[in-house]
Amino acid sequence: MGLLGRYKNGNFVTTILSDGTKIRETEDDEFIPLFAENMDIKICNYCDMGCKFCHEGSTINGKFGNILNEKFIDSLHPYQEVAIGGGDATSHPDLTPFLQKLKEKKVIANMTVNQIHFEKKQELIKKLVNEKLIYGLGVSLVNPTKHFIELIKQYPNAVIHVINGVLKPSDIKALENNNLKMLILGYKHLRRGNEYFEEEQNDIETKQQWLYENLEDIIQKFQVVSFDNLAIEQLDVKRLLTQEEWDEFYMGDDGSTTYYVDMVERKFARSSTAHMNKRYDLLDSVDDMFNVIRMEND
Ligand code: SF4
Repeated sequence: MGLLGRYKNGNFVTTILSDGTKIRETEDDEFIPLFAENMDIKICNYCDMGCKFCHEGSTINGKFGNILNEKFIDSLHPYQEVAIGGGDATSHPDLTPFLQKLKEKKVIANMTVNQIHFEKKQELIKKLVNEKLIYGLGVSLVNPTKHFIELIKQYPNAVIHVINGVLKPSDIKALENNNLKMLILGYKHLRRGNEYFEEEQNDIETKQQWLYENLEDIIQKFQVVSFDNLAIEQLDVKRLLTQEEWDEFYMGDDGSTTYYVDMVERKFARSSTAHMNKRYDLLDSVDDMFNVIRMEND
């Protein structure tokens, strides 16, 4: 497997392989980073999908961040990772030059797109992957058709994103045993996610209960199943792992090695679900922002 990058960060060395695998090594008892490993970056709030549960509240009136002119981008470290999303990130007019700038800085860019945009914008997506402007590609599931499954299989670094409470048994039936990778995200009670929960609480909780009960079985049917921290909590993923496995796979609390940057509102926070009064005005340096988040942790 190819090596994407290897760098020292505080008291440990991080190795990133071409399939996205990340290995941290240290001589000490704990990992103490000097800078964030990853930032979730929202580049626009425009989206034409209108998903009822959208915790970003994205609409066709959403704005685009001024992504080519933010100073903090110049302070990114080589091999630091950014997870780019929106809104519909593919609709940002400056997406390609932005990714080119990141590539020149040896920053590893990953991006998440909705399944419908993934299917409609194949030309753009292929170009971004082939030119190594993005490495990891997250695709938010809408409808697991045969066409979609065949298409996503063409991208070895693609991960299907699903939401705990939206994912249903028939989705898993269609996706399972196709050697696919799946990331389960927690249900976010924010913006439209909140309103949708109030309207559809029963249905959402039934799906969450089903996923909780069937998780162990589902994991066997995919090449990889991963979770964000919210899903780890909602599905109590720890119950399925030994302590050794947990220590090996758990990547740390939000804010310990990652944080969130909203380039539309020009704010940063521990995560995209942070309370509005725990979002701070952007600073010019990614390290200064990380230090603010770390002080929050103390
Ligand atoms: S959830 Fe994603 S695809 Fe749906 S409206 Fe929000 S940003 Fe768009």
